[in-house]
Amino acid sequence: MKLILLGAPGAGKGTQAEVICNELKIPAVSTGNMIREALSKGTEMGLKAKSFIDAGKLVPDEVVIGIIKDRLAKDDCANGFILDGFPRTIPQAEALDNMGIVIDRVVDIEVPDEKIASRLSGRRVCKDCGASYHLEYKAPKAEGKCDACGGELVQRKDDEPATVLDRLKVYHEQTEPLKDYYEKKGILRIVEGQEEVADTSALTLKALED
Ligand code: AMP
Repeated sequence: MKLILLGAPGAGKGTQAEVICNELKIPAVSTGNMIREALSKGTEMGLKAKSFIDAGKLVPDEVVIGIIKDRLAKDDCANGFILDGFPRTIPQAEALDNMGIVIDRVVDIEVPDEKIASRLSGRRVCKDCGASYHLEYKAPKAEGKCDACGGELVQRKDDEPATVLDRLKVYHEQTEPLKDYYEKKGILRIVEGQEEVADTSALTLKALED
């Protein structure tokens, strides 16, 4: 299955991508994680992306389209994948179409803007492996430490309140129109984000069935 997870920053796309990845045994592909990894390695692309990420803006289309093209050409994506955080603009969605990739399902996880800021303020990510946690909804077993690799958990700079407002604005202006784009193709399903991660997962998995 080739799947896209849509939703505002903090809607829980990454967490749900992990759940589906385990359930369907297809890789979760997150452009945000790939860009942050490039940034931490200090690659040229990472350095170019830094100012955009820090300001809560989108990295230019041609950069992310290049990244995703290379990633989806890898063998592990042959039987399907979950896209988390891509596409985020209409030109990115068109680029996927132009690559000849036929998406089976788009799930939009909806969380009201009022809830986003508090969700993002509790988010913590592993400095080493990028795994994502939440102080309230998905706490690590040991405080401040990644369950998977023991790395230190930190707050993303772009999860700070001032940047979150910019990211939400960008989401509404540039990413939300994708709902219409995929609705017209008949493959969009809407899931209301629930308080409990497991409840959202149940709804998300169900949205893949019909
Ligand atoms: P995320 O972890 O998905 O919230 O992504 C973090 C940041 O990476 C975003 O705020 C953007 O600056 C950048 N980014 C990730 N995916 C994309 C994309 N598809 N298009 C443009 N910028 C992206």
